Amino acid sequence: MDTRRFWIVIVLMGGMWLSVGAPIAEAAPCLIVTLTGTQGGPSVFNGQAGAGTLLRYGDDSNDCGAVKLQFDAGRGTNMRLSQIDVTPVQLNAIFFTHMHGDHTEGFADIIMLRWYMKGPKIDIVCSSDATSALGVTNSCRKYVMHIADAFVQSGEIAERRSEDKDRLAGGPADLTNVITFDPKDEPQVVWSSGDLKVSAIRSTHIAGHASYRVDTPAGSVVIGGDACNDVLAPPRTSSTSDQVERLAKGVDIIVHSTIHPVLGPDRGSGFPPLSYYRQSGTTDLGAMAKRVGAKHLMLTHLAPSIGAVIHNRWKVPGGPLTEADYRKAVEASGFTGNIIVGTDLASLRIPVK
Ligand SMILES: [Zn+2]
Repeated sequence: MDTRRFWIVIVLMGGMWLSVGAPIAEAAPCLIVTLTGTQGGPSVFNGQAGAGTLLRYGDDSNDCGAVKLQFDAGRGTNMRLSQIDVTPVQLNAIFFTHMHGDHTEGFADIIMLRWYMKGPKIDIVCSSDATSALGVTNSCRKYVMHIADAFVQSGEIAERRSEDKDRLAGGPADLTNVITFDPKDEPQVVWSSGDLKVSAIRSTHIAGHASYRVDTPAGSVVIGGDACNDVLAPPRTSSTSDQVERLAKGVDIIVHSTIHPVLGPDRGSGFPPLSYYRQSGTTDLGAMAKRVGAKHLMLTHLAPSIGAVIHNRWKVPGGPLTEADYRKAVEASGFTGNIIVGTDLASLRIPVK
């Protein structure tokens, strides 16, 4: 072997060592989106949990679970989390889209258990106080501060403190760090951790409603909540939110509440038109997902629930809907990406394994 060839071999071997060494030092980032509840609205149906989405982010070394964020926490969220081995203590932050019970009533359960387990303080992120239609204040801050008042009044908080003095004296509210923001028509960063950032935008549903976007090196997710268009009834170009559309430009995954056209005023269910119009229609959501170039659309908070004869107290015209009915309604928009018609614990990992 002449000297020149010898050095080429050495350089090539060095390159091989580097290319093998690099992936070990730097595990691939990944995220998992899980629907913790898919019930649309306040009613109960067939054991479904109330609206909520868990986002886990990390890399292969920690099963994409270094950061765990919960968006909304409807009835039964804690039960769903327990099915995927996530305890309240492991959550890094909880975000609320709005102060409607179907998105918030599971929070007491989560925060009571976290307090009982002496979990660390947790960030609760939501919009600042907003004046609602009747002049009453929609207040996430007050909601969180008073979350366990009933358990303070019942004596339980003092009782359990007598068993373990390390539990905070004020009860679960003492465990929270409430971070509020004024929702704007442009995205603003409201929370971050390392290379993950969460942005929020104002959206219409009730006063103080906000939608969120999470950006990570593994990919991005928009959680729309119950957003609808600022124009509350037809004529309008779409039932979807222009602000959510801005937030969702180029996003990988959209998670969004939806209402099927079958509950529209023209179909005669008797479902209140305002409640219908202040949700995003299924076909319109598909059209929005197509316009922003989303790869995945996860429908949640389905109204009506799949298989339900009655939605809240109104009969579903034409009988119960199927998964295919929702899928067809999205496909009618021309969206050709991946459609997930939400059921409790439906999950999506990116990159796909
Ligand atoms: Zn809702």
